[in-house]
Amino acid sequence: MHDPDCLFCKIIAGQIPSSKVYEDEDMLVFKDIHPAAPVHLLMVPKLHIPSMAQVGAEQAPLLGRMLAKAPELAEANGCNPYPQGGFRLMINTGDEGGQEVHHLHIHLLGGPRPWKKG
Ligand code: 5GP
Ligand code: ZN
Repeated sequence: MHDPDCLFCKIIAGQIPSSKVYEDEDMLVFKDIHPAAPVHLLMVPKLHIPSMAQVGAEQAPLLGRMLAKAPELAEANGCNPYPQGGFRLMINTGDEGGQEVHHLHIHLLGGPRPWKKG
């Protein structure tokens, strides 16, 4: 499903450029345009799901595949190894959850501190 008014659907469709680091049938992963940490990736399902608030059991396999990809993406994109390194996964949901783009995405943050956010 594609929402013609959605920024991340446009990035997935190639209508807006992005710095892609990984793509498969489920997801696109690209660099955040305003990085809050030395490594800041956005993991985005190709399916237009507005937020975590719409996720249920049907989406669990997709979310599981996305989460399971994070360690490999972290290592390939400059996060230092666990436990001295590591990374943070974050899913902002709704206005009070700090969500700005209403297409589900997982922030992957990492690299040496300090970071801009926490
Ligand atoms: P949210 O606040 O919805 O959790 O995160 C949205 C993220 O998308 C923000 O960190 C913001 O910097 C990033 N972002 C917004 N517009 C663009 C864009 O056009 N390209 C890329 N690569 N990132 C974007
Ligand atoms: Zn979308």
